[in-house]
Amino acid sequence: MIAKQPDSKKQGFATRAIHAGQEPEPATGAVNVPIYASSTYVQEEIGKHKGYEYSRVSNPTRDRLETNLAALEGGVASKVFASGMAAINAVASMLKAGDHIVAGHNLYGGTPRLFNQVLVNFGLTFTYVDTSDLSKVENAFQKNTRLVFVETPTNPLMELCDLRAISELSHRHRAEVVVDNTFMSPYFQRPIELGADLVVHSTTKFLNGHSDGLGGVVVCTKPEQAEKLAFLQKAAGAILSPFECWLILRGVKTLAVRMLQHDCNGRRVADYLSKHKKVRKVFYPGLPDHPQHELAKRQMSGFGSMIAFETGSLANANKMLRKVRVCSLAESLGGVETLISHPATMTHAALGEAGRRKIGITDGLVRISVGIEDVDDILADLDQALAAT
Ligand SMILES: *Cc1c(COP(=O)(O)O)cnc(C)c1O
Repeated sequence: MIAKQPDSKKQGFATRAIHAGQEPEPATGAVNVPIYASSTYVQEEIGKHKGYEYSRVSNPTRDRLETNLAALEGGVASKVFASGMAAINAVASMLKAGDHIVAGHNLYGGTPRLFNQVLVNFGLTFTYVDTSDLSKVENAFQKNTRLVFVETPTNPLMELCDLRAISELSHRHRAEVVVDNTFMSPYFQRPIELGADLVVHSTTKFLNGHSDGLGGVVVCTKPEQAEKLAFLQKAAGAILSPFECWLILRGVKTLAVRMLQHDCNGRRVADYLSKHKKVRKVFYPGLPDHPQHELAKRQMSGFGSMIAFETGSLANANKMLRKVRVCSLAESLGGVETLISHPATMTHAALGEAGRRKIGITDGLVRISVGIEDVDDILADLDQALAAT
């Protein structure tokens, strides 16, 4: 259907983001991938069609997005789902009752909620470990361990794990590594190049980038994985709509320039916060005093714009969050606008107080997803808001 397919492996990242799967539409020459709003496709005779039968199974807009995202992460294929959680649920659905997963102890709050409150009822078992400590990961393996599920940097404490080392270790134990790469996007970190077997994203965040749609993707390294996931799209049905696919195709065209500006603004905000006398601690891998700064420099090509910082108390956090004007107090991240949030009551509420204390999420912790506004305006806003604490 697509006339020219340039060898996208030879092209640079920004070129792939704009062109992989985004070739002009052959029938009309439309430069943008059309939104194929069709649930079904006409057939000439029984069993004779143009490759599409029903949109839960496949849709041309979705195909184009799946081609694009696979090219950005360096995978063989990708499959998109209705949200990041639907993508993670699809990965878990590739397993069966009795299988064991080793997971990072500090993940996006919704991930342990899915694991502990849904998937345990279907016979999957989980062990949570600090994945920045390789010996703890090693000790968590069981005979039935099938997957190691990690985030790096973690949400919201920005702890890293060594993806190459974790991949080698997991493969020795015949387990596959799944990396939730939402925080860095493929622009700054490509886990498959470091040995990961699957990469997941909430495309809701940096990939789409405009806070206007939800989505999730699983990027595969083996055709068998893609086949299993295509079957799950068809069988379980948590697919992404053509319109949402189009939003992401549009969003990724500017991923490279957005990430550069996010990173640039992120560094400035982290630097400012680290010098502020009312801020007790700043969690950002780009700061030289971050315990894994060297690993960050090796494993990622930028530090991104996710920062957490300690205000000292719930009251301080609330005083500052009530005052922000340029920054928006809201859940989510990765949009062009600066979003600021309170993990203890928002993204990580489901962990409970004891769960949060165990991994170090305090009531005074504030998380910021630095947007791409003029950085001086963001700094001025933070300055006036922090003055209230
Ligand atoms: C938001 C997020 C998810 C969940 O994605 P949704 O699109 O909200 O379902 C998973 N992992 C990380 C790291 C996230 O930030």
